[in-house]
Amino acid sequence: MVIKTSRIPRPGETILGGEFHMAAGGKGANQAVAAARAGGDVIFVARVGNDIFGEKAIEGFIHDGIDVRYVFKEPRAASGIALIIVGADGENSIAVASGANANLSTEDIRRAEKEISSAKILLMQLETPLETVRKAAEIAAANKVPVILNPAPARALNARLLRCISILTPNETETEILTNIKIKKTSDMARAAQYLLDKGVQAVLITLGSKGVFAASKTEKAGQIIPAFKVKAVDTTAAGDVFNGALAAALAEGKPLLDAARFANAAAALSVTKLGAQPSAPFRKDIEKLLKSKRSLS
Ligand code: ADP
Repeated sequence: MVIKTSRIPRPGETILGGEFHMAAGGKGANQAVAAARAGGDVIFVARVGNDIFGEKAIEGFIHDGIDVRYVFKEPRAASGIALIIVGADGENSIAVASGANANLSTEDIRRAEKEISSAKILLMQLETPLETVRKAAEIAAANKVPVILNPAPARALNARLLRCISILTPNETETEILTNIKIKKTSDMARAAQYLLDKGVQAVLITLGSKGVFAASKTEKAGQIIPAFKVKAVDTTAAGDVFNGALAAALAEGKPLLDAARFANAAAALSVTKLGAQPSAPFRKDIEKLLKSKRSLS
């Protein structure tokens, strides 16, 4: 829930004259929607609250063709919510109540075990408890299902989890937190990627905003930058989520890693040309149109 106002109120202060706007968000939900719109066949495992936000979220997922059998409704907790105040200078102040997200349990993951172990790909982020991420990653790894982990919001990840990850997709800040390496030039990216590959991850995609993505893997250790598509950026909210959702959809279709990363770059570029999180996730035909129009430049 976003209020745009002249400036961020000080503690105890009330500011009138703001403009209110509400849109669906949450990293997992954004990624699920992005994957579905990019052409993926998506089963979403999540928890929402027993309130209008939870109902609206589920309605939205169904509208995007997402299988919601494992989107559990909490009888007591509220849905995850973010209250965002944006000042005229673009500065923001955000408070997040994780609500039902914090109650996703390993038992919930077990309920979806059959679907996880027979999936083409498992995509996760870190807005649900770490033990659920670990549980799902272990089920997937045991069944040779590739796991993409978008390590956001950043937190320390132990070796046991990292060994189950096929593709880790941190942005620059998250890479610095995970590796303690400052990312300034390409050689820093290569060093950071190597650090993560040494921990057992199969491939690392460091997203670089308008610069694109740095890709390195166990077989292509030196790595390379796959440039972003040039677009007029309006709002970069959820660019990373759209990148991850589209990446998962492309890999599930059998595209090789670098082709999938280029497809994800195109999807994420389209998303930054529009306001909002889920409203900005592009559809397959528009991603393909952008890819075709830029083919000669690549
Ligand atoms: P996050 O949103 O997680 O911080 P990034 O800012 O790295 O992630 O963006 C993720 C991806 O979105 C990038 O790798 C790139 O493909 C795309 N992207 C982000 N900003 C732009 C931009 N200004 N122009 C084109 N593509 C962009």
